[in-house]
Amino acid sequence: MNARVIPLIDKRSLIPPSASTAQSRGPLGDTRDRRLADLRISVTDRCNFRCVYCMPKTVFGRDYPFLQHGDLLSFEEIFRIARLFVARGVTKIRLTGGEPLLRRNVERLVEMLATIPGLELTLTTNGSLLPKKAHALREAGLQRVTVSLDALDDPTFRRMNDVDFPVAQVLEGIAAAEAAGLAPIKINMVVKRGTNDHAILPMARHFRGSGHILRFIEYMDVGSHNGWKLDEVLPSADLVRLIDAQMPLEAISANYPGEVAARWRYKDGGGEIGVISSVTQAFCSSCTRARLSTEGKLYTCLFAQGGHDLRALLRTGRSDQDIAAAIGAVWEARSDRYSEIRTAETAGLRKIEMSYIGG
Ligand code: SAM
Ligand code: SF4
Ligand code: SF4
Repeated sequence: MNARVIPLIDKRSLIPPSASTAQSRGPLGDTRDRRLADLRISVTDRCNFRCVYCMPKTVFGRDYPFLQHGDLLSFEEIFRIARLFVARGVTKIRLTGGEPLLRRNVERLVEMLATIPGLELTLTTNGSLLPKKAHALREAGLQRVTVSLDALDDPTFRRMNDVDFPVAQVLEGIAAAEAAGLAPIKINMVVKRGTNDHAILPMARHFRGSGHILRFIEYMDVGSHNGWKLDEVLPSADLVRLIDAQMPLEAISANYPGEVAARWRYKDGGGEIGVISSVTQAFCSSCTRARLSTEGKLYTCLFAQGGHDLRALLRTGRSDQDIAAAIGAVWEARSDRYSEIRTAETAGLRKIEMSYIGG
């Protein structure tokens, strides 16, 4: 099964006909009264890791049909779309992928996006190229960075990334990001029961008191190739109990409405952790995130089966006003709430791959 999953074409993949007459400025709400506030932009569908829960090697092998350069949105196209999203209420942009630091000269894109006033600009990375790139990214105007790291012991980490990548180099990347001033750094750990759950306490101990915020993510049924099973999900409530028994925790309130991670702090002042419980405590009711794929499709849910082709609008000479109206029409028609309706059956649907849509 080596063919890329082509999103199913359904009526939602078409830009609604009302787009050309809809408003092109101002904040947006969807059918469930959720505003559009965040945009995640995938800048490449390629990655130098093959994390078992995201890009299993058996599927993403040598002959996998990754996108060709001409399919990718150019930096100019991304910048243009980003400005239109900001005009429609977006205040935070996260660059992602695939591995965003593999996109050549990504710091130039950062530099362009950093000129948009009032925008929070961050990036999620596997950290492997941060030792080389952290400084240039900071210079370009990146504010913060999130680094994914699934274990501290080398055998487990290598098993998770499945390309034999050493953990020491990611830790070096985190140190480089800190030295460059990309703090506070968030560390994302996906927990897969039976594979890396033994790494939870060592990770908590390591990052406690570091100033970095460790966030534990429940293993999700993203895409259609990671072989997700519910019994491999460790519920966040169990994880919090596990840490609390060793290093007492107390709940703290969200930084802002709709924050994805539930926050906990160490009672002794050792800092905070977060838990992202997409499976056991769905947060769809406050989901304000849109996603732009590497080739310019707009997705309104991480588990979507189809996207809306903005690149076609860009490349057929449509005006800013038309494109902003199209974005508005898509968001206003949005009704996604996948995590609220997830079952073993929905997990088997042909969903878009996370490495393509951006995490
Ligand atoms: N390559 C970058 C990285 O790993 O940080 C950015 C892209 S990655 C798709 C974004 C985030 O999605 C990472 O933190 C990763 O751990 C998370 N992720 C990928 N697959 C996941 C899954 N099946 N369940 C939960 N989180 C997942
Ligand atoms: Fe690559 Fe990130 Fe997916 Fe791992 S989680 S395979 S690093 S895109
Ligand atoms: Fe948002 Fe979709 Fe995730 Fe629900 S399942 S929180 S709508 S991305």
